[in-house]
Amino acid sequence: MRIVRFIYRKKEYWGKFISPVRIRLYTTTPFQRNCYLINKTVALDEIKPLPPAIPSKIILVGLNYKDHARELKMKLPREPIIFLKPSTALLGMGGKILYPKIARRLDYEAELALVIGKQAKHVPESRALDYVLGFSCLNDVTARDIQKKDGQWTRSKSFDTFCPFGPWLTTGIDPDNLKVRSYLNGLLMQDSSTSNFIFPVRRIVSFVSQVMTLLPGDIISTGTPAGVGPMRVGDVIEVEIEGLGRLANPVAV
Ligand code: MG
Repeated sequence: MRIVRFIYRKKEYWGKFISPVRIRLYTTTPFQRNCYLINKTVALDEIKPLPPAIPSKIILVGLNYKDHARELKMKLPREPIIFLKPSTALLGMGGKILYPKIARRLDYEAELALVIGKQAKHVPESRALDYVLGFSCLNDVTARDIQKKDGQWTRSKSFDTFCPFGPWLTTGIDPDNLKVRSYLNGLLMQDSSTSNFIFPVRRIVSFVSQVMTLLPGDIISTGTPAGVGPMRVGDVIEVEIEGLGRLANPVAV
């Protein structure tokens, strides 16, 4: 099932795809108990997709692919390294990634991300996926020069528009064996699989839930594979994940 949040005739809705090009509207958000489908449908080309979550927080994993660790000549971490992005960094399908004046190098990072469906605290790995509503594509945009200069990651990863996410949520998939790719101006830049994960999704959700209460709508991103690189103004960056769609965003000033 694919769930989408969008603007239609200047109003915001949530809906579910009933065909590749047709969406049926929900009464409310899919995080509420009284959410059901109504009879009204809209066409995909009539809507503007929004990021498919309104999170209280966005949690990301720093290094989670064996191929990326090899590329960086880093030892495999024994526990996930996590950090946060603010919700104000979110950007939907087609939105412009704004190149900050103070940045000298802006990198893309293609990542599989999930949205929490119900409140989670101290969740065991065996039940972690029960708390996930669905999965989508995320670009962990990073001002690499600022990340190196600061020695920690908050500023470099938190600029407005530094969290493209979408185009929609897909439910009921196995997250640990999906192809993850990025394309810069149509050229393949990253090409890996979540089967290269150091920590599988259930471990990450359980791990984060030992630290902080996860609320419905919270986003967790699972790290990027090998092949990250810089973007320039005028480029178009796309994140594609098997079965989840393709998230495209231009870079602008
Ligand atoms: Mg990342």
